[in-house]
Amino acid sequence: METILEFSHRLLKTAAQQGDTVIDATAGNGHDTCLLAHLVGEQGKVYSFDIQEQAIINTQKKLEEEGLAHRVTLLQQGHETISQVFNEEAVISTAIFNLGYLPKGDKSIITLPDTTIQAFEGVLDRLKAGGIMVVVVYHGHPGGKEEKDAVENYLRLLDQTSFHVLKYEFINQKNNPPYILAVKKR
Ligand code: SAM
Repeated sequence: METILEFSHRLLKTAAQQGDTVIDATAGNGHDTCLLAHLVGEQGKVYSFDIQEQAIINTQKKLEEEGLAHRVTLLQQGHETISQVFNEEAVISTAIFNLGYLPKGDKSIITLPDTTIQAFEGVLDRLKAGGIMVVVVYHGHPGGKEEKDAVENYLRLLDQTSFHVLKYEFINQKNNPPYILAVKKR
């Protein structure tokens, strides 16, 4: 059985191919941005968003250490601007969201229901057939439950003729463990 991290990475590896345009909607410490930059190769492009300067610094440093910075556009702005960054014709194969706060960072800066859902719309409008949006839901912190409920209510209502929506969750773990919601465009 795969952990949450392993399963999220497997989904990214399934969806992101060489040459693709992909999104890390919450760059944080840059782990997923780096993985995506590896997956899309020299011809691909990663757009990575975070509102926090420390996250942008950490991600830039990690990318430079791995020689991947040229494959990534790092944007210090909210993921709710995805619809402004990409035109309507843009095609995205993969996107990942890690909700919540920056690990080892400022716990008061968290993703929020309205802007997260706005960002989902920006991604889903451009997701190619077979493309995947991965959402890792961290919800143990103040505000986490409200976001979890809003996100689930939104994704549950996506039209099943256009999207498969999956939940991957360990149901016997204590203390609000993270879980995955993944959306695949049919
Ligand atoms: N994927 C990251 C990693 O590999 O380390 C972890 C991301 S962390 C759980 C969540 C991040 O979302 C924080 O760095 C926070 O600053 C960022 N964030 C909060 N609101 C945001 C928004 N509206 N747009 C983009 N990023 C946001």
